[in-house]
Amino acid sequence: MCQKDKDYSQNPSHFEEIHESVSHRDLNWEQYRGYIEGMRFFDPHVHMTSRTTDDYQAMYDAGIVALIEPAFWLGQPRTGLASFKDYFSSLVNWERFRSSQFGIKHYCTIGLNSREANNEPLAEQVMEILPLFLYKEGVVGVGEIGFDDQTPAEEKYYRAQLELAKEAKLPVQVHTPHRDKKQGTERSMAIALEHGLDPSWVVIDHNNEETVKSVLDQGFYAAFTIYPFTKMGNERMVKVVQRYGSERIMINCAADWGISDPLALPKTAALMKMHGIDDETIRQVTYQNAIDAFGKSGQIDEADFANGIAIDQSLKMNGNTILRGGQQPLVPRESLLIK
Ligand SMILES: [Zn+2]
Repeated sequence: MCQKDKDYSQNPSHFEEIHESVSHRDLNWEQYRGYIEGMRFFDPHVHMTSRTTDDYQAMYDAGIVALIEPAFWLGQPRTGLASFKDYFSSLVNWERFRSSQFGIKHYCTIGLNSREANNEPLAEQVMEILPLFLYKEGVVGVGEIGFDDQTPAEEKYYRAQLELAKEAKLPVQVHTPHRDKKQGTERSMAIALEHGLDPSWVVIDHNNEETVKSVLDQGFYAAFTIYPFTKMGNERMVKVVQRYGSERIMINCAADWGISDPLALPKTAALMKMHGIDDETIRQVTYQNAIDAFGKSGQIDEADFANGIAIDQSLKMNGNTILRGGQQPLVPRESLLIK
């Protein structure tokens, strides 16, 4: 469906200015489930804190076995350090538990996002608490960090966090800007190299056709975000994979509190299959490459999720459960993977 004439309710978080006319094809479950039966997916960029339990259930049903939740902004600026602290803490505690209740292994990256790097007095304080979270179990990288408006403050804290990543021996998840993307992407890579990072430890996110070649040529991982209306549409993604193959390319949905689709990854896999892309290539870009890149953290053991994780909704975390009064723990619906 062509979305050209729509008033894009822009997702202000990952908004991109360029709108392609033919880029995205939405698929309903009945249309695509047959194509992905038996496939498993690893989505390396989803903000589950903003999503519902229905999303978790649908992702599980579609074969998503693991995901990474990057630390991000909340849609409005935080006013104090305690909000950052509680947010980071929720990523390594409650959200991970919530995910486990739907059979999905949850990892996260921790960092100061580019927008809030512009509040320097607060950014200074956030930098001080980052090491308290970077070394926690299940933290697979520093992220998402990088440029938004490409201000001097953004650059300062991007550089400082690259140093933290080196010190902690963690991969880096780089959010590239949506305005002046090409230039911002080049600048992000040049700075990472200047700080001595091995490009195979750096995932450059939100690529498009203009940026991908340079990212791959310089040895970085290239991540692509599939959005329903803006950014990379899934039809465009199919073409990228046909052209560049699967090496160091990964796909994510970057779903958050804005208009986005937590099932973008399995849908894109189905579309690749429909276009005749082989199963091994699909597996690389929707599962394996993310594990290889973020597995450098030493925090990912594929055995934990490769065959699905056991779900026990009677579990509690600090006395809290995802169930509400009177609800019985669910016997989850079968996922495509388990069948
Ligand atoms: Zn994000």
